[in-house]
Amino acid sequence: MKRALIGGFVISGKPGCQAQKADILVEAGKIAAIGKIDRTGAEVMDCTGKYIMPGLINMHAHLFGTGKPSKALGGGSSQKAVLKFVHTPLGQKVLDSMVASHVLAELDSGVTTLRAVGDFCGSDLRIRDAVRAGEKLGPRMYCSGTAITVPGGHGDGTFAETASDPADLRALVDAHHAAGADFIKICVTGGVMDATKKGSPGELKMNLEQTRAVCDRAHELGMKVASHTESPDGMRVAIEGGVDTIEHSAGFDEALQEILRNRNGGVILTFSPALPLARLSPAVTKLNELCVYNSEVVLEGMREGGRTAMESGIRVGLGTDASCPFATQYNMWREVWYFWKMMKVPTDYAIYTATLSNAEILGISDITGSVETGKYADLLILRSNPLDNLEALREPYAVIKEGKFRRPMLKKNAFIEQELDSLAASL
Ligand SMILES: [Zn+2]
Repeated sequence: MKRALIGGFVISGKPGCQAQKADILVEAGKIAAIGKIDRTGAEVMDCTGKYIMPGLINMHAHLFGTGKPSKALGGGSSQKAVLKFVHTPLGQKVLDSMVASHVLAELDSGVTTLRAVGDFCGSDLRIRDAVRAGEKLGPRMYCSGTAITVPGGHGDGTFAETASDPADLRALVDAHHAAGADFIKICVTGGVMDATKKGSPGELKMNLEQTRAVCDRAHELGMKVASHTESPDGMRVAIEGGVDTIEHSAGFDEALQEILRNRNGGVILTFSPALPLARLSPAVTKLNELCVYNSEVVLEGMREGGRTAMESGIRVGLGTDASCPFATQYNMWREVWYFWKMMKVPTDYAIYTATLSNAEILGISDITGSVETGKYADLLILRSNPLDNLEALREPYAVIKEGKFRRPMLKKNAFIEQELDSLAASL
């Protein structure tokens, strides 16, 4: 099946890209030609006045949650009940259908490739397989299964499995590999919600030996490792321990920069939960004073980590951390906007970071991430120019994944949208 996109402006996704008038021929799911095309036998789609760019890549999402602040996974008896339920056959069905609806929302919001970095009971892997088999609609997915950490680490009791002995940690990596995980997610540090000290979010949980045990085994099996890392101590252990992508990040010194650069690693920023938790009113976020204070520390650390990476030639990627409070499954556009706003980068660089740079970090830039001949037709059609205003990404006119065209149908949470819009206006 051939489709000709005629009369639109094309934005390649490369650094410095501009909107250029060009037609695109899509054939067998791939971009067959750009510019002057032979439209014989093709279904013509008039894109006059529209802007065509690469589909977004969400590098950091959890697929179980809606982003609505909830007490269900905040510890205590309700969390225990939820976790008991998702381990039952009925619970897994409910979980899988939620995850399936969330990946469809990701696709409809313009995300054509997604990396899932910690979910329950293999739900991410099952839905990934269903999408790959064409049984469900969703982005191209790369999934870790459950995260791995030590007892008391971030995600212990929810989306992570734990061990402390290096041999047991290696065995967990083997089990993930056998279950079909695409990469390994670990949590070297704690997070904002489980911090106990003011000013010290991201307390170190995994030591160097434990981190090395996981990374070495994962690399032996051909898998990369991503680590939740929210403090300078964590940066040292994660990078020296062999981690490939630092999630969230904090500041790090020149010696560590060199290691990460030589490893061809990346730093993945996730402003989508960090900003609302730090800056929305505690009356809205329901956070205590300690969490608000530490959220601001995490936010500043993330900006520092991102700045350090950009200045030292380390790839930067973007993800939403969907499922965290205020991080929905349909707001990747906000992550791109936050990155532009908080890091003071040009819009073309923000678009590059959310598309081709993410693809480079994932090692898939030969098949997707930019509008180039030979790559998959993973495209967004927008009503206005995102290079002028990134809000153009908010409601894509159409989303195309591997040549398959979709008009998005998104149901958004009005309360969250209103809070996030007022936050954006205040930045
Ligand atoms: Zn996360």
